[in-house]
Amino acid sequence: MMGYYILIGAIALVSWLVSRKLKSKFKHYSNVHLQNGMSGAEIAQKMLDDHGIRDVKVVSTPGMLTDHYNPKNKTVNLSEGVYNQRNASAAAVAAHEVGHAVQHAQAYEWLGMRSKLVPIVSVTSSMSTWVVFGGLILGAAAGFGLGYWVAVAGLVMMSFATLFSFITLPVEYDASNRALAWLKDKNIVTQAEYAGSEDALKWAARTYLVAAIGSLATLVYWGLQVFGGRD
Ligand SMILES: [Zn+2]
Repeated sequence: MMGYYILIGAIALVSWLVSRKLKSKFKHYSNVHLQNGMSGAEIAQKMLDDHGIRDVKVVSTPGMLTDHYNPKNKTVNLSEGVYNQRNASAAAVAAHEVGHAVQHAQAYEWLGMRSKLVPIVSVTSSMSTWVVFGGLILGAAAGFGLGYWVAVAGLVMMSFATLFSFITLPVEYDASNRALAWLKDKNIVTQAEYAGSEDALKWAARTYLVAAIGSLATLVYWGLQVFGGRD
């Protein structure tokens, strides 16, 4: 159990450090004002137009770093800052979220797979740790048998969350690549602004990478508890 707390603590520390860095990068590049004077909302709308996507709306959503694309009602949701501001951070986020809309419009495979996993993961992820833990306790109390299989079932549930976090990686990297390619091709940003947008998106991607590695490490840890204890 001690090892588990150390692992969880280490993952939490790294993800805190990366998200702190991400916030400071976004803050920094929000001081790089766009020469063309376009707001995040205008950039998002133009990128949709350039891709011939007419059934997706750009809307403003409250909060910070709350930006997302909603495939259900086909909306690009931009946080108030991104929606209204005219800087390299806003351009990066707006174009990234439209990148997801383009993926959706073009039936990008990884996005489809990710969407299919959402209902499964939303059920399994909240209880999987408890199922594994319960199985281990049951196994310790009653010997291997039922407890072992309960723990294995918990591991299977847990592995869906890990799979989900890894499928998220190509989806996120691809959305950023689409965003950056478009910003460059259409000369939406200057070279210096582009460098800022690229760096901001790189740090955003790292938060997903840390989450995926953390999820895998947790799965491996519990896997060792379940299968290691059998010998
Ligand atoms: Zn994204």
